[in-house]
Amino acid sequence: MRALTWQGIGDVQVREVPDPVIQEPTDAIVRVTATAICGSDLHLYDVLAPFLKSGDVLGHEFMGVVEAVGDGVDGLQPGDRVVVPFCIACGHCWMCRRGLFAQCETTQVTEHDKGARLFGYTSLYGSVPGGQAELVRVPHADFGPVKLPDNFPDERFLFLSDVLPTAWQGVEFADVGPDDTLAVLGLGPIGQMAVRVARHRGVGRVLAVDLVDERLEYARQWGAEVVDYRQGNDVAAALSELTDGRGPDAVLDAVGMEAHGNPVAGAMIAGAARLPKPVGRQAIDKIGVDRLDALYTAINAVRRGGTVSVSGVYGGAVDPMPLFTMFDKGITVRMGQCHVQRWTDELFDLANQTTDVLGLEDFATHRLPLSEAPDAYEMFRDKRDGCIKVVLHP
Ligand code: ZN
Ligand code: ZN
Repeated sequence: MRALTWQGIGDVQVREVPDPVIQEPTDAIVRVTATAICGSDLHLYDVLAPFLKSGDVLGHEFMGVVEAVGDGVDGLQPGDRVVVPFCIACGHCWMCRRGLFAQCETTQVTEHDKGARLFGYTSLYGSVPGGQAELVRVPHADFGPVKLPDNFPDERFLFLSDVLPTAWQGVEFADVGPDDTLAVLGLGPIGQMAVRVARHRGVGRVLAVDLVDERLEYARQWGAEVVDYRQGNDVAAALSELTDGRGPDAVLDAVGMEAHGNPVAGAMIAGAARLPKPVGRQAIDKIGVDRLDALYTAINAVRRGGTVSVSGVYGGAVDPMPLFTMFDKGITVRMGQCHVQRWTDELFDLANQTTDVLGLEDFATHRLPLSEAPDAYEMFRDKRDGCIKVVLHP
């Protein structure tokens, strides 16, 4: 089959690779009909390079049609249309029983002291071949995949794999209601979806921060008041001014590693990615500064006693934290990988309505064949052509 493979720093290529096969009774093989490029896939371009090897298949946002199932999979049959959560969970361990699916103890990557395995996301998360491919092996298919009806096109459901539940959990963690103001930092896919989710859930005011025109414009169309990062650059002061000098009740940091405004950190990370592997691994773990700028902004901007909700992935130890400020302001910080399966029932019902209330079918800005994935990665990284979300068709 054809798959998008990592070949080196800044180098992904579509290659011929062996077809996946059923390895465990709880596996399924899914023929991918649509797959998306995630902001966090861009980390693989550089910062997480020490944890990849040439030929690794990328991608964790995908859906398709079940091609084969192992003996232990009761709920699925060949021919079923499914969307697959990006984090792989067993559904019955101690963590799963508590809804903490991203910490599943059956799939945890204990050798790296990390949480649940993820599709297409480096040795840190189990080196599981990803879904930017014609076919993908889905472990724990007796629990993860969400069966879909045939009533709507793929893109109505594709974002149940990551973007929608991640944005939903971010807003949930922000703990805001009709009388509250939520600021969303970063208007990539997660930030855009968070704006829509927050408005849908009736959050009083949504302030959206970015520095790219079309990203600000989309957020405005979905009911946010926008703050342009380019104008003056002091985001915390701008947010304070918009909230009677107090600051937003909650700040959702959705910047991911698309962080701007920290060229020094960027240079350090670029350097670490190019170091020999054992040294590079250590450096990434220690530096972890890649996107502290966004987190510091969130901590500075939020009102006293407010909540910071972190949706973007941190690629290293978040250290040093501004602990004094966090304590003095008495803020609540909530973060972590999305427990996708915890939200999928509710979100499936939301996606599967006659009216596309979150604009899922129009969410992608670009649709391309899988063969054009390498160009699509570059376009997304460079934010060219108004690119916010790319969907690939194998
Ligand atoms: Zn993703
Ligand atoms: Zn589990």
